[in-house]
Amino acid sequence: MCGIVGYVGKEACADILVDALRKLEYRGYDSAGIAVFEGEKIKTVKAKGKINDGLVARLSEQPKLYATCGIGHTRWATHGEPSDVNSHPIGNGRVSIVHNGIIENYRELKAFLTSKGYGFESETDTETVAKLLDYYYQGDPVEAIAKALDDIEGAYALGIIFREHKNKIFAVRKDSPLIVGKGETESFIASDVTAILEHTREYYFMERNEIAVLDESGISFVDVHGDPIEKELQIATWDVAAAQKGGYEHFMLKEIFEQPDAVRNTVSPRVKDGMPDLSECGLTEEKIRGYKNIYIVGCGSAMHSGMVGKYLIEDLARIPVIVDIASEFRYRNPLVSEGDLVVIISQSGETADTLEALKLSKKKGAETLAVVNVVGSSIAREADMVIYTNAGPEISVCSTKAYAVQVAFMYMFAFAVAYARGAIDAEKCRQLTDSLLGVPEKIRLCLDNVSGYQYVASKIFNADSLLYIGRGLDNALSMEGSLKLKEISYIHSEAYAAGELKHGTISLIEEGTPVIVAATQTALWEKTLSNVREVKSRGAKVIMICRESAVLDENCADYKVGLPEAEDMFLPLISVVAMQLIAYYTAVQRGCDVDKPRNLAKSVTVE
Ligand code: GLU
Repeated sequence: MCGIVGYVGKEACADILVDALRKLEYRGYDSAGIAVFEGEKIKTVKAKGKINDGLVARLSEQPKLYATCGIGHTRWATHGEPSDVNSHPIGNGRVSIVHNGIIENYRELKAFLTSKGYGFESETDTETVAKLLDYYYQGDPVEAIAKALDDIEGAYALGIIFREHKNKIFAVRKDSPLIVGKGETESFIASDVTAILEHTREYYFMERNEIAVLDESGISFVDVHGDPIEKELQIATWDVAAAQKGGYEHFMLKEIFEQPDAVRNTVSPRVKDGMPDLSECGLTEEKIRGYKNIYIVGCGSAMHSGMVGKYLIEDLARIPVIVDIASEFRYRNPLVSEGDLVVIISQSGETADTLEALKLSKKKGAETLAVVNVVGSSIAREADMVIYTNAGPEISVCSTKAYAVQVAFMYMFAFAVAYARGAIDAEKCRQLTDSLLGVPEKIRLCLDNVSGYQYVASKIFNADSLLYIGRGLDNALSMEGSLKLKEISYIHSEAYAAGELKHGTISLIEEGTPVIVAATQTALWEKTLSNVREVKSRGAKVIMICRESAVLDENCADYKVGLPEAEDMFLPLISVVAMQLIAYYTAVQRGCDVDKPRNLAKSVTVE
């Protein structure tokens, strides 16, 4: 979720803004635009598509711009499909803004502003902020911004210009990144320092509730009362290439570390009064009560997220859930029929087999719910109902944060289904939802154990083959863990239900065979330990992923990966971080091309 830039100085800025946006392309986007002070007006040029095909082509169709101050944006749509009108900057001629993030309460804001006579052109959440700023503006931009911030809920970084304050940029942020760059005779705003490294290495980090004011004379910071704030200047030491990955060695690592925010962006906007609220897509309680069966269909990691969903929904809501691989589902004449709900999961929304599974489900009379990350994608357009997972662009081929948000949605969905069908009461539903809201913080704790994951990687990186085992929800988690390892390290591995091992697969165990055990479910703890002893006594090298507090004797595990305390149900979403990082460091130690593993494509648009 994408790129913001801004420039004020002595140069003509249109090209500077466009070049800076190019530096942010790595973040992924679907449209781009700029707004500059031209004469007494704000001039906006924006277009759907790549910077060169859309924005640059548009700019070349009109007279050259000589403005020396403006803001720019690459949008990765979350609310409203990628289109010219939904592209940023967004405004009304008096105020224009660029926004990264999600305004969670945009519906309430829209209703309020509509009652005040405002009309809306775009489908974006962003437009509510532009109009809100206009509503509060009485001549003092800082006052208007402070009042608007009071009303806005969600994640944002905002670059703002007011027509009446020529050649001035205002900027604020909460949760979405934003820095302010200081040049000799020019100043910048940007989502990250990469965008401006060519011009300056000096910059300020923005903190919450700080308002940056940039003009030709320099940069100042004030708080929401207009009082000045002193800030420390930072010096970037990155080279440009490293900075494009935000300082991470690989996109995969960066995306793993983005998971707390990604999960928050998926869950929080859909919690109303402490309860899951999926009404945005039309999934009403009445509809939920009417479904006979729920099918969940996807490929790869998306299908694995469905496995988690199955365990959760069946356990909590007591309705049959059939999880299927899209390429199987579409050719096996599935029993799906009218009265069923088919949940179709795909990061890109373009997965060919999944799209066909969706069409087949519709043909058979079922209602379809798409869970996709990319707004306006084929699956999103085709389905009866759509949930966007708001993970932001995922660039690494190996899916991490996109999987985590699919799973996060499965929790919300399970709670909503269970509540609507009367299997849990409102109090229980609220308590579960509250625990889910706490998951991003637990994921963050898991991210701290890098040396632990590196150690495990050093113990398995030269293995020829290994096993992942677990029971219940841990079985679903193991499937994802094994897939990650295969995808990027090229080590063969298999995921197995722990209790099923002795029915054949245990014959693979020999002296030193690594076995990664997921054991997060208290009710299955003893059962899983029995399986661990079975493999251990046959020479396996056992790595246990379990609560930090779990007591293990050495006959049980060679190494323990400790997890923070959380209710059993939520641990698979937390501990997937361990699975991902073990796979990541193993691949790194083997010298593999982590972000572009051989033979794989990000968006599988062939069957
Ligand atoms: N939520 C906004 C939109 O959909 C901003 C998305 C972004 O961060 O690019 O327009």
